[in-house]
Amino acid sequence: MEDDPTFDAGKGSFLNEEGFVELDAIIMDGATLNVGAVAAVRNIKNPVVLARKVMELTEHVLLVGEGANRFAKKIGMKTVDLSELVLEREIERWKKFKEGKISIEKLFEQTPRGTVGAVALDKHGNFAAATSTGGVAGKMVGRVGDTPIVGCGAYADNNYGAVSSTGHGEKIMKIVLAKEVINFIAQGCSAQEAADKGIKLIWERLKGRAGVIVIDKNGNTGISYNTPRMAYAYVKNGKVYSGI
Ligand code: ASP
Repeated sequence: MEDDPTFDAGKGSFLNEEGFVELDAIIMDGATLNVGAVAAVRNIKNPVVLARKVMELTEHVLLVGEGANRFAKKIGMKTVDLSELVLEREIERWKKFKEGKISIEKLFEQTPRGTVGAVALDKHGNFAAATSTGGVAGKMVGRVGDTPIVGCGAYADNNYGAVSSTGHGEKIMKIVLAKEVINFIAQGCSAQEAADKGIKLIWERLKGRAGVIVIDKNGNTGISYNTPRMAYAYVKNGKVYSGI
C-alpha cells in the first residue's frame, strides 16, 4: 500500500511545511508484544519494512530521523530520491496550504485520508498490526503523529486482538486510541463495538476525527470512522469484503 500513490504513505505522502516528505511507520507482533517503529524518516520507500527491521534486528522500539536513516543504511536498505516520493498533486496541495487556504482541521473534515494500516489474525491465533503514514499536510519539520507510537497508531495482543488507527494524530495520541480499543475488547466488546466506542470517545472527548480497523480474538472485524471516508478491504474465510 505504501507503493500505491493514492495513499498518504510512502509514495504520494503529504508534504511538510518545507515541502518534503517525512514518514512514520509501526509494526507490532501480538504474540510477543514486540514492536518496531520509525519516525520522521526521509528518502525511504517502505518505512514499514524499516520498522519491521527495527523490531527484528534491534533491542529498541522506535528510531527517529537521522538515526533511523543511519540504521537503514547499516542494514543495506536503499534510499530513494525525494522526487520518487513526491507527487504533483501534493505539490499543488502544499501550495494551497502555504497560501493559508486550508487548515489541518479542515483537511480532516474534507479530504479523504490516506494513511494505510493493516491488522491480521492467522490460523494459530497470532495477531499483527501495522500502520504507515506521511502524516498531515504542512506539518512542522520533525513533527511525529500517532502512527509510530505504540498504542496510538497500532496495537496487537494475542489475548485480545489487533487495531490500526488513522486520523488526527495529535488527538489520537491524547486518547491512546489503539490501546483504548483493545481495552474495550478486554472488557467484553466485539471488534465492531470496540471500534465504535473508540471513535465515539475521541469525538466526545476531543472532537477528534479518526478511523480504526480492528480484529478480535473470535475473528470478528470492526471498522469505524468519523472522517468523510475510509477505504477498507478484508478477507475472511476466503471471501473478500471492501468498502469506502
Ligand atoms: N494519523 C496520521 C498522523 O496524524 C495521519 C492520518 O492518519 O491521516 O500523522
